[in-house]
Amino acid sequence: MTRTIVIAATPTPNGDLHVGHMAGPYLAGDVYARYLRADGRPVTYATCTDDSQSYMVSTARARGTTPGELCRTSTGQIGRSVEAMGISLAQLPPVDDVYRRTVLDFVTALHRQGRFETRTVRMPYAENAGTYLFDGLVKGECPSCLAESCGGSCEGCGRPNHFDDLIGPRSVLDPADPVTSREATVLVLPMENYREELTAYYEARRDVWRRHGAQLVREILAGPLPEIPITVPSPGWGIDAPFAETPGQILYPWIEAMPASVYATWRAAGEPEGPVDALWRAGSGNRLVYFHGFDNVYFWGMLDLVMLLAHGDRYITPDANVCNEFYELENEKFSTSRGHLIRGADLVAEVPRDLVRFYLALTCPEDQRANFTREGLDKVAERRLRAPWNALADRIDALVTDPGEELPVTGEGRRRAAVMVERFRLCYDLPSFSLTRAADGIVTQLGRLLEAERAETGDLLLEVRTLLACAAPILIDVAAEAETRGVKLTLETGAETVTSFLLPRLPGSAR
Ligand SMILES: [Zn+2]
Repeated sequence: MTRTIVIAATPTPNGDLHVGHMAGPYLAGDVYARYLRADGRPVTYATCTDDSQSYMVSTARARGTTPGELCRTSTGQIGRSVEAMGISLAQLPPVDDVYRRTVLDFVTALHRQGRFETRTVRMPYAENAGTYLFDGLVKGECPSCLAESCGGSCEGCGRPNHFDDLIGPRSVLDPADPVTSREATVLVLPMENYREELTAYYEARRDVWRRHGAQLVREILAGPLPEIPITVPSPGWGIDAPFAETPGQILYPWIEAMPASVYATWRAAGEPEGPVDALWRAGSGNRLVYFHGFDNVYFWGMLDLVMLLAHGDRYITPDANVCNEFYELENEKFSTSRGHLIRGADLVAEVPRDLVRFYLALTCPEDQRANFTREGLDKVAERRLRAPWNALADRIDALVTDPGEELPVTGEGRRRAAVMVERFRLCYDLPSFSLTRAADGIVTQLGRLLEAERAETGDLLLEVRTLLACAAPILIDVAAEAETRGVKLTLETGAETVTSFLLPRLPGSAR
């Protein structure tokens, strides 16, 4: 049976994941994976920490620690936050020798096949430190939108910049360090060589990409395509490039994302015998879906896709990149460096997890920027979810005198339940996947069922049980409680009878 491999963007372990991250790829990927599992479709949901990123070096410097120590503490925090939010990712795999071998096998195969070319490029160079600057080590003006940007890609417009593209570059490690431009000979993979495959790939997924991501891809395709750095001069952190042409260089961190995901999939699958990349092979019959932010469209949607395409027909390519926009906190950007953030673990310590997951699902930034407020969470989760949910539980309590009793269901009851499932399938399946519409669907159905008059109690109970099953990917704790009470959460709606049950209540916040 086709296995869906769901990959959430690989988090850089230079800090914990905050609510903005959770409301982006991690919760969406979780809900999608939970839905597939509930629907009886095999799924592996995995990610891997992105340890080699240059941001490890810049953040460690800012915090007065080492990249290695920062990596250890942050990886632990990320793992705990993921668990606290009930994100059903496989355990974060260790970035170990098997990881490095998977990365090296992936790139040396391309090197052997002559996919890379040497280029002498100009790069920003910090004179006092004596280091070349790229990605998180450098800031300047984005050549495409003039906003302040790091190297690699611009967080604002999403367009890439490599080598000497940034205007007025300065060192992030030491802004007083004079930055000049020096030549470096690196390996590149010219994206232009894959224009035809890329164009066909996006054309086939026109209806899958959300509008903003699709627009960015079109913008980039409209001009000359960038050359992907395969190696860059080492900042003293990263995986040493094994190529004779580029001594003293590391692999460009972003090109690790695909082998990292291959490796994480293999770990999540229980380390099956055979090649580590077997589950990603074109002949595996598996399908691939990514969840990531708009700021990763260039990397995950283009650069890493080209890394797969460069292997010829060896690998599957993603069916979809489900992209989110930025989530703001009290109308300001989440900022780890300024401490303007809420950690998921802290939030679920105060507010029951189902309420947090519901609010994040309802307000997450799918097509445009969205805003988290603590006041909004308290108000919306109470009024739209908890109060009507518990009122429905009261109603069921009054109707069900003998839980466990088999009650008849009419054709009309089955029809209504089937309509509900179809609505939720549209929210959970691709290409129409939408967490906000799924959360809103819970609200709509709750309001309806509170008022619904049914001749047969069985009909009402089938509808309520169907709502519970459809809400289960978001409201994980109340669904688990219902299951421990013996309620069978199924998306099947064709049964002649329903076993009567009491609806578990949603707890309120501590404060
Ligand atoms: Zn820009």
